[in-house]
Amino acid sequence: MAIEIRQLPCLSDNYGYLVQDQETGAVASIDSPDPHAINTALQDAGWRLTHILNTHHHFDHAGGNLALKEKWNCKIIGPRAESEEIPGLDIAAGEGDVISLGASKAKVYDTPGHTLGHIVYHFEADGAAFVGDTIFALGCGRLFEGTPAQMYNSLAKIAAWPDNDLLYCAHEYSQANARFAVTVDPQNNALSARAEEIDLLRRRGQPTVPSSVAQERATNPFLRSNDPGVQATVGMSHADPIDVFAEIRKRKDKF
Ligand code: ZN
Ligand code: FE
Repeated sequence: MAIEIRQLPCLSDNYGYLVQDQETGAVASIDSPDPHAINTALQDAGWRLTHILNTHHHFDHAGGNLALKEKWNCKIIGPRAESEEIPGLDIAAGEGDVISLGASKAKVYDTPGHTLGHIVYHFEADGAAFVGDTIFALGCGRLFEGTPAQMYNSLAKIAAWPDNDLLYCAHEYSQANARFAVTVDPQNNALSARAEEIDLLRRRGQPTVPSSVAQERATNPFLRSNDPGVQATVGMSHADPIDVFAEIRKRKDKF
């Protein structure tokens, strides 16, 4: 009893994911960035799409919903707080809900910040989470709709998961994120090592995603706004971590 995950580069820098419940063969597409790429991947795998799990309403995440639903008659699960904006939504989900993909289960968390209704899907038993545009390798989503405090709390939920759980984010932004991260956390050796590793992977055209919860906790500046070194670097020693987070997010927006 487990899930199998296929990762597919979509559009310019998105990742799509197909998740198969191996016991029943049920298959979910995490978001619907590019129906054509998703259909090709389904065909390659010999899988039939039964579900779409949407994280939020942006076009590069839900824009392919209707095309996929028309072809596969799949069930669309998405954020309750964005029900009106998710095309073809069948089941609205939010914090504390557990959704089923065949025999596999994912716990839903509300992670407002990037959008107000953003949700993430944690397949606890499989140690895998699909986090959309909430957390990226060494980064986090832009605050288009939410406040820094909301995003800070959303990220804290993810940071509390087990060390080895893997975070499957929706964009390949790692290299740009690493260039910024070292400016606010210059003394962090784990970060500089990771930045080098990311450069190497990208030079070979390989994905830098997924990453683990432990890796992000150790190197993602948006999870480290309580770190004395980070605080000193941004000139906010002993400040409230939420204020430090807000400052780091502001600097990244202008970087
Ligand atoms: Zn987005
Ligand atoms: Fe996105």
